[in-house]
Amino acid sequence: MITLSQIDKRFGSNKVLNKIDLTIKEGSVTALIGPSGSGKSTLLRCINLLEIPQAGNLRIGNEEISFSASGRPAKKDIRRICQQTGMVFQNFQLFPHLTVIENITEGLITVQRWTKSKAVKRAEELLHKVGMQHKRDAWPATLSGGQQQRVAIARALAPSPKVLLCDEPTSALDPELSLEVVAVLRQLANEGTTMLMATHDLRLAANIANNVVFLDGGEIIESGTSQGIFTQAKKARTQSFISTLT
Ligand code: ADP
Ligand code: MG
Repeated sequence: MITLSQIDKRFGSNKVLNKIDLTIKEGSVTALIGPSGSGKSTLLRCINLLEIPQAGNLRIGNEEISFSASGRPAKKDIRRICQQTGMVFQNFQLFPHLTVIENITEGLITVQRWTKSKAVKRAEELLHKVGMQHKRDAWPATLSGGQQQRVAIARALAPSPKVLLCDEPTSALDPELSLEVVAVLRQLANEGTTMLMATHDLRLAANIANNVVFLDGGEIIESGTSQGIFTQAKKARTQSFISTLT
């Protein structure tokens, strides 16, 4: 369903991703683990095209795009791909000047051109799913971090993306608040939401993910089922990194 082939990303002379090949099956959850600076965020950003790779090919469902060092793809091609994805950030990034429900309806109305009533109906459905319907008209600043992240997840899912990309969705939260976010992500996983998440959180990586990809120095060092990677990683580098996770 999602295939990256030979993706390269450089910032100036700094090569951050090197020939990344990755396949994500529909309905699966993949955890992206690796040390700080290994390229996890950049890899997620290369899938929703917040960053444009210099080489390789990306396919999401039936949409495909190729990259080269000689130029950026056309805006309409970038839009076509990024609309297939939803992104959840470490720091939530809700719009502070919009209420909870407006945070969700905004993109549906302005980007997807939905009518307001259809957008509100969809937003209410999603708020219910993440257990935030009671905060429908609240301002983001009045919510706990866990509540903000649940709204951010609802917002990302609103246009029914093919894949939910999560960049360390629990790492800005203390352990208690991160539990409620883990519970929402687990429920989404059980419902068959396709997800790729960068995380240092063992509850996400070991308990929710089907597959684990270990990234180090911009290269995929090892990947496999989460059971396989966590209990019998083949590479010493993977084993030693896993022992640092909490
Ligand atoms: P991770 O998420 O695994 O911590 P990142 O993808 O954030 O890693 O960063 C990987 C490398 O890319 C780091 O060396 C970082 O400094 C560099 N990098 C990331 N984003 C940019 C950027 N916008 N401009 C320049 N360098 C960047
Ligand atoms: Mg990161």
